[in-house]
Amino acid sequence: MTAGADIDAAGWVAGAQRIDSPNQDDRPADAAIRLIVVHAISLPPAQFGGPGVTQLFTNRLDPAAHPYYADIAHLTVSAHAFIRRDGSLIQFVPFGRRAWHAGASCWRGCVRCNDFSIGIELEGTDTEPFCDAQYARLAELIAPLCRRYPIEDIAGHSDIAPGRKTDPGPCFDWLRLRVALSAALPGNTQVCVSGIPLAARNNV
Ligand SMILES: [Zn+2]
Repeated sequence: MTAGADIDAAGWVAGAQRIDSPNQDDRPADAAIRLIVVHAISLPPAQFGGPGVTQLFTNRLDPAAHPYYADIAHLTVSAHAFIRRDGSLIQFVPFGRRAWHAGASCWRGCVRCNDFSIGIELEGTDTEPFCDAQYARLAELIAPLCRRYPIEDIAGHSDIAPGRKTDPGPCFDWLRLRVALSAALPGNTQVCVSGIPLAARNNV
């Protein structure tokens, strides 16, 4: 595996499509970026390839365009990055800034996970397998993030908001991600993937 994507000083991925979201602000001054949150989303639900997610993250979703949109069009949300089914990457917020992806959340006793996390959305649902190209892109993105920031954990939205959120869902293959990151990162990297340390790589 390659070293992964290049990330510039401001926190933008080289080669990604950039669509700035207004739904961002500064992180607290003392917040180390130590968590990556994996999400899944599709708009309309279970439909892929359309503009719905980009429209939602830029406050341009038409509430009349689909029955589901009436309930969500008012939300001011975003994620740092969105990986489509074909592996293409759209970035909405630079990693140094706070994206609004986690909502009410708690991880290892710390609330307000947006303060100290990076949110990555995969185009998908709770009921369909994700694509090879998405796993490849996700690993190519997370590996350099682990080098750049003091990432301790990679977890699902469902892990930080249990009972409220289910994504990325049971079809997301955490073992596959852990294997890919084990191959891409140095052996002494201290990162847990869904609670299991990367360092236990001989056992995966
Ligand atoms: Zn989510």
